[in-house]
Amino acid sequence: MTQRFFTQTSQDLVYLDANATTPVLPRIADVVSHTMQVCFGNPSSSHITGVQAKFLLEQTRAKARQVIGAEQGDILFTSGATEGIQTAVVSTLLANRHKATEHSVLLYGATEHKAVPNTLKHWNQVLGLGAKILAIPVDEAGLLDLDFIAQHVGKALMICTMAVNNETGVYQDLAKLEQVIRANNDHVSWMVDCVQALGKQDLALSETSIDYAPFSGHKLYAPKGIGFLYIRENSPYTPFIAGGGQESGMRSGTENLPGIAGLYELFDMLLDKSQGVFKPVATLHLYRQQLIHALEQTFGDISFNAPLEGTVPTTLNFCVNSLTSKEVMDLFDAAGIRVSGGSACSSGASRSFVLDAMNANDWQSENAIRMSFGPAATEQEIALACERICALKPVLANNCLIVSDATQPEHEVCALGLTQLRHQGSCCWLYVGINNEAVIIDPVVELVPRIARLVTQQQLHVKAVLETHKHQDKDSARTLLSERLGLAQEQDPLGWPEGDAISLGEQRLTRVSTPGHSADSHSYLLYQGDKVTACFCGDLYIFSGLGSTQFADADTEQMLDSIHTLATKLAADTVLCPAHDYEQCFALSWQAQVQATPLLQQVLQEQINKAQFAEQKCVLDQQLSTESGALCGFSHKPKHANAQQLSSAEVQQMLASEEFETVLWDVREPYEHGAKDIRSLFSVHDDQLLNVPLSRMANALFAHQLKPDTRYILVCRTGNRSGQAIKNLQSLGYNHVYNLQGGLALV
Ligand code: PLP
Repeated sequence: MTQRFFTQTSQDLVYLDANATTPVLPRIADVVSHTMQVCFGNPSSSHITGVQAKFLLEQTRAKARQVIGAEQGDILFTSGATEGIQTAVVSTLLANRHKATEHSVLLYGATEHKAVPNTLKHWNQVLGLGAKILAIPVDEAGLLDLDFIAQHVGKALMICTMAVNNETGVYQDLAKLEQVIRANNDHVSWMVDCVQALGKQDLALSETSIDYAPFSGHKLYAPKGIGFLYIRENSPYTPFIAGGGQESGMRSGTENLPGIAGLYELFDMLLDKSQGVFKPVATLHLYRQQLIHALEQTFGDISFNAPLEGTVPTTLNFCVNSLTSKEVMDLFDAAGIRVSGGSACSSGASRSFVLDAMNANDWQSENAIRMSFGPAATEQEIALACERICALKPVLANNCLIVSDATQPEHEVCALGLTQLRHQGSCCWLYVGINNEAVIIDPVVELVPRIARLVTQQQLHVKAVLETHKHQDKDSARTLLSERLGLAQEQDPLGWPEGDAISLGEQRLTRVSTPGHSADSHSYLLYQGDKVTACFCGDLYIFSGLGSTQFADADTEQMLDSIHTLATKLAADTVLCPAHDYEQCFALSWQAQVQATPLLQQVLQEQINKAQFAEQKCVLDQQLSTESGALCGFSHKPKHANAQQLSSAEVQQMLASEEFETVLWDVREPYEHGAKDIRSLFSVHDDQLLNVPLSRMANALFAHQLKPDTRYILVCRTGNRSGQAIKNLQSLGYNHVYNLQGGLALV
C-alpha cells in the first residue's frame, strides 16, 4: 500500500481551530473523489465528458448565487480568498490609476486579515500609485470607527472591510458601514472579506453596494485550493490571470473541477437546512456556552478578549489569566485538542495585532487563545471537546498550574530539588529540600503568581526570597513575592535573614560576597556536608559566559577576585545557577562552565593578569553582549555536533535492543507529559521512561539522575525543545543522545 501520512483519526482528535481551516466533510470528500475519477472532464472540451464537467461548473455557480444572495453580478472560481483579494485590489487600482493623486488613500480595517493590507501595499507600490494606505481604527469591541471612515472615504480609491474577523469572530454591521461609505463616496470600490461569514451569517450581496466579496472553500469543509469571488455588476474588473480564456476570459486556467464539485455539495447542504448538517445559530450559541463552561470549570479564571454578544458563536478568543498561551497550547496539544494562539495565519507573531488594534492589554495580546469550530459541528463533537478539556483539570492541579480545590492537595514531588523558572533571558531558581523547606532566588515579577501558586499547592515552607544583587534589567520582585508569601520583613537589602546559614533539609545555604558585576553582588552556596552542590551565582557568571562589568558600580578587578574566591569553593560537578541564560543552556556544571568560557579558563590557569583580564572582558562585553542583545553579560554560543535524528521506527528498535541501556526522555513539562501517556506509543516500561523538562535539567545534574553510558532518546512536541536539551547534554559531556525527528507531532 502507498504511504499514508499521519493516521490519527478525527475520533482521537478534538479539532477546535476551524477558523484556520476545516477538515473536508466526508460527503464533500466523496463528491471530490468521484469528480476526480468519474466526472473528470475539462469544462472547455466539446465532447460529452467536457459538457458534463461544464454542467457541474455552472450548476455550482448558480448555487453560489443562491448561497450569497447574488442574483446579479459575477461569480468567479478562484484558488482561495487570497486570490480573490488580489483580483479585487488589482482591478480597482488599475481602473483608478489615472485618478490617483498624492491625496488619494486606500482604506482597510485595522483588524483585517494580513492578506488585505499586504495586497494593498504590494500593488500600490508595483503600480506606482503612491496612495496613502490608512488603517481604519476599531474600538474595544473590534467595531470599525465610522467617523474615521466618514472623514477619509471621500479621498479613497478603495475601502476594504471584513464581515467577520478570523481571530475574534467580531462581526461588523455592514448596513451601517454601507450608509457611511455611500453617504460620503457613492462610487468608491468596496471590498468585504466574507471568508469567515459564510455559513455563519445570512448574506444578500446583491442588495448591497459591496463591489467585491472573496470566499474560501477550506474555511468551510471544502478542500484547500478552491474559493470564489463575487463581483458586483459594472464594478471595475481586470483579469488577474490571462491565458486560455476560461471563466468567460475573467480567470484563465483549467478550472479546479473537483474543488468546485466540493463547493456544490457544500452549497447544497447550506441551502437545504432540512438536512441538518449546518446548525441553526441558536444551537451554535449553545455549543459555545458548553465550551465556555468547560473552560471555566477547568481553568477557573479566564477572560474573553471580545464581547461575546458581538461575535459569531463559532469563535471564542480568551486568555487563561494565570497561564501563558504557550502553556495552554502545549497542554491542549498534548491532550489532542487543537486550538490556535492568536492568528494561525500569522504564526510566529508573539502578539496579536488584532487585539492590539482593539486596545487589549499586553497579557491579552500576548496570551490569546482562539478556539473555533465549524457551523456543522455536532453535539457529540462538542461533548467530547468539553470532556477532554475537563479531563485536564487534575493534570493542571497536580502540576501546580491551578490551585486545586481538593481538600487534600496532592503532594507532587515535582518541585523537590532545583527548578529553573524562566522569563525571557532571566532565570529565577527555586530550591526545595526534602522537608519542603525552600528558597527562591532572583524572582522575576512576571513569575510571581506562578511561584506563589507553587508554594501554596506544594505546601512549601519558604525560608527566604533572595536576590543575588539589585538587577539592572528588571524591577525587584523580591518584596512583592515576600509580601505575597507573608514572609517576615527583618532581612538585609537582598533578603538574607539573620544568621550565617539557612538550613534546607539535608542542605544548608550560605552566602559569599562576590562583587564585580555590581558592588552588592553575592553568591549563594548550597552545601551538603562540606561539598557545594549548587551555586546561585547571580550575574557573576552567565551560562557559558561572564556577567557584564559595564554598569556604573561594576569593577573588573573585584570580579577577578570573586572568580578566584568562588573557584576555591566549587567542585567540578557543582551545579551552576546563574540569573541569566541567554543561550538556552538550562544546566551547567562548574566544570562545563569553565570549558565553555575561554576567558574563565585563562583566569583560572593564571594565564592573564588583571589588566589583560579587564581589557579582554571589555572587548567581549561589547562584542558578544551587543550581538546577542544581552544586557547583563556575554555568553559564547556553545559549539555542538549535530544531534542524531531518529525516526519513530528507529526509536522503537533502539528501545527494544538489549545491547545498551536506553531511556526515552520526555523533555516536555509534566503537565504535557501527564496529558497524554506516551508509554504505549513506544511500548516502554516505566524504568525506560524519564520525564525531565528543560526547567528541571539542572535538577537532573544536581540529583545525579543521568548516567554517562546510558543512551538517551529525547522527545518533545516538535523536536525543538529536545534539540535544545541535546545541545545542553553535549556541553555537559553526554554523547549518546538522540532526537526523535520532528517530535511526537510526526509519530
Ligand atoms: N481572509 C480571512 C478573514 C481569512 O481568515 C483568511 C484565511 O486565513 C483569508 C482571508 C485567506 O484565505 P485563503 O487561505 O483562502 O487564501
